[in-house]
Amino acid sequence: MRAYNFSAGPSTLPLEVLEEAQREFLDFAGTGMSVTEISHRNKAFEAVVDEGTALLRELLNIPDDYAVLFVQGGASQQFAAVPLNLMHGGKADYIVTGNFAKKAFQEGKIYGDAACVASSEDKTYTYIPDLSAVPFREGTDYVHICSNNTIFGTRYVEFPETKAPLVADMSSEILSREIDVKKFGVIYAGAQKNLAPAGVTIVIAKRSLIQDPLAICPTMLKWKVQDENKSLYNTPPCFAIYMATLVLRRLKKLGGVKEMNKINEYKAGLLYDFIDNSSFYTNSVVKKYRSIMNVPFVTPSAELDAKFVKEAGANGLVSLKGHRLVGGMRASIYNAMPVEGVKALIAFMQKFEKENA
Ligand SMILES: *Cc1c(COP(=O)(O)O)cnc(C)c1O
Repeated sequence: MRAYNFSAGPSTLPLEVLEEAQREFLDFAGTGMSVTEISHRNKAFEAVVDEGTALLRELLNIPDDYAVLFVQGGASQQFAAVPLNLMHGGKADYIVTGNFAKKAFQEGKIYGDAACVASSEDKTYTYIPDLSAVPFREGTDYVHICSNNTIFGTRYVEFPETKAPLVADMSSEILSREIDVKKFGVIYAGAQKNLAPAGVTIVIAKRSLIQDPLAICPTMLKWKVQDENKSLYNTPPCFAIYMATLVLRRLKKLGGVKEMNKINEYKAGLLYDFIDNSSFYTNSVVKKYRSIMNVPFVTPSAELDAKFVKEAGANGLVSLKGHRLVGGMRASIYNAMPVEGVKALIAFMQKFEKENA
């Protein structure tokens, strides 16, 4: 039996997509070869990259003057690529709302005057700072945010108005809700949360901003070079791009991001309502900023948390252990988590509460 996999990343993928990939694994597009064996210059593979790029443009309504790239190195590599492509004046602001936002900020400091202008670390990242009160500095090259905080389970409800281009790490929520791409200079996302197996990262960047990377920027990290080469500057992560394209096709068939968002709100609503109505489980995030992708929660004790994770696993509800920084549990309910998975989790939570309260 297939488990309900609540892993924060790499994460569950749609069953239909896995089955489709399995069906054509030995003979991809009539080539007589697996997609993992063919040249990335093969027409059949180039068609995959073109289709994936076009689907991202369509589903996220990305304007033509933005590059859409498939790159490697994970979102963590982009923590460096951001300053290396954008930090011409040597100055950038960061809002630190979690572990990954902090890592991006620390990477930024390697390349110039990066400042943390707002943070929610004082309350263990359980909220998003008041955006109207952020002391953004003058003359910065960009402002960096992490739109959904995977470990702490918060998300931005609205985005800051900034003079400098806004750069967002959307790894754990891309394609889960509608966004206005025009508001951002750059969006990037490791695909292994909501879109594909590990190995590929999506970059969406306004072309006018990326024409002049810093002199020390490695060629592989130059978004301009990746754009000029349609993400085929070197051998790309072919299989991950192929899987992303299948996931994007399915998302389009489902009705696109708007429809997906409705389903995601419904799933998250079921789980948060259950937690809020229980005196046994707690989620400590400020309600307004609760993520609809990552839901951390605890029982009354660390011992019961450990017991919960163990028994849930034995019942086919896996990877529910919270991040080592916060403990407890975390249910990652990305696009590919079916409503039935969330319902099964809630049913187990009810049963566990009855037996242990
Ligand atoms: C998972 C994650 C990362 C790290 O991604 P890698 O691909 O492992 O480098 C960065 N930012 C966010 C928001 C994430 O969820």
